[in-house]
Amino acid sequence: MTTLLTTSDVANIMALQGSQKVYTELLDYVLADFLRWQEFDKCARVASHSPTGVIELMPTADHELYSFKFVNGHPNNPHAGLSTVMAFGALAQVNTGEPLLISELTLTTALRTAVTSALAARALARPDSRSMALIGNGAQAEFQALAFHTVLGIDTLHVYDVDEDATRKLQANLAAVAPSLRVVRFDGTAQAVKGVDIVTTVTADKAYATILCADMVEPGMHINALGGDCPGKTELHADVLKMGPVFVEYEPQTRIEGDVQQMPADFPVTELWRVLTGQADGRQSASDVTIFDSVGFALEDFSALRWLRDSAARLGVGTRIEVAPQLQDPKNLFDVVRAATRVTTGGAG
Ligand code: NAD
Repeated sequence: MTTLLTTSDVANIMALQGSQKVYTELLDYVLADFLRWQEFDKCARVASHSPTGVIELMPTADHELYSFKFVNGHPNNPHAGLSTVMAFGALAQVNTGEPLLISELTLTTALRTAVTSALAARALARPDSRSMALIGNGAQAEFQALAFHTVLGIDTLHVYDVDEDATRKLQANLAAVAPSLRVVRFDGTAQAVKGVDIVTTVTADKAYATILCADMVEPGMHINALGGDCPGKTELHADVLKMGPVFVEYEPQTRIEGDVQQMPADFPVTELWRVLTGQADGRQSASDVTIFDSVGFALEDFSALRWLRDSAARLGVGTRIEVAPQLQDPKNLFDVVRAATRVTTGGAG
């Protein structure tokens, strides 16, 4: 049998454990998998583009487990009452192919993206970082804020969105769950990023947008750029990428999708796993600018699905469903048709 986790189930897993445990535990799962990077089958995600957005498939596997995620990115969806990003996925046994878990991954994507951002910032930002600007206050924003508050001790958040309602929503949510986090609203990106230690850009626009320009970047800043994650969709001015070392998840995918799509093919980037394993340097000095050009990689979803499987089993959350047939004789697949016929017609089948 396969475990099914709905969005409510994942929200329950979060509520039962509490924010602190969720962010720190999931970060440990993601870190553990980045540290064994070489064990994974890796490929850039398969993308299907349309004028309004993209739908992507993200598979990966180690010797034991296989995972995939289906995810979309449609920046105009909120006008139609839908989320910009929606996702679901599965975890299966490599040695048999048996599906173990099918889960919602919309909420989970926000969580895993936030802990991956925090993991990168913990390795790359100045250790004394306490303030962050959060540009783009949509669906991902609370998760980013809470991961940085929990993992890095960020205590001051400067927030800005072109949509004032999105910022008000963010402020209300954070005031309810993290009252010790000081949240200050600004009227523009330039004002919001002034003097902060970390800048997170998490905007959605299917365009070569310029959210952050070189004249807004100060020595010592760490930039966590999340919204440039698709061909033709960027957030950083090309000059920002020249201001310091650029770190990426999986180089072949980020060359296509990340902010570095604007740069020549030989523009230097460093994969994050190399910093985490001590094989590459991160920040060299307190005045360096470091840039994490994040697009989201299948390994992070693999880690999140592992965490969901373990959490659901421990907490007794989820529903057991028959996705693969439960057969007495595995060669007698037709028996399920005969059994259903017997039930619906009352006949002998
Ligand atoms: P969302 O639509 O819920 O929120 C995006 C917000 O950006 C909106 O509130 C919008 O008003 C704001 N915005 C747009 N242009 C802006 C501008 N110029 N200045 C300030 N704010 C602006 O989307 P979301 O789910 O929060 O996702 C945000 C982005 O993050 C998307 O582009 C998505 O593809 C990306 N994303 C990346 C990863 C990753 O792993 N790197 C994971 C999830 C989402």
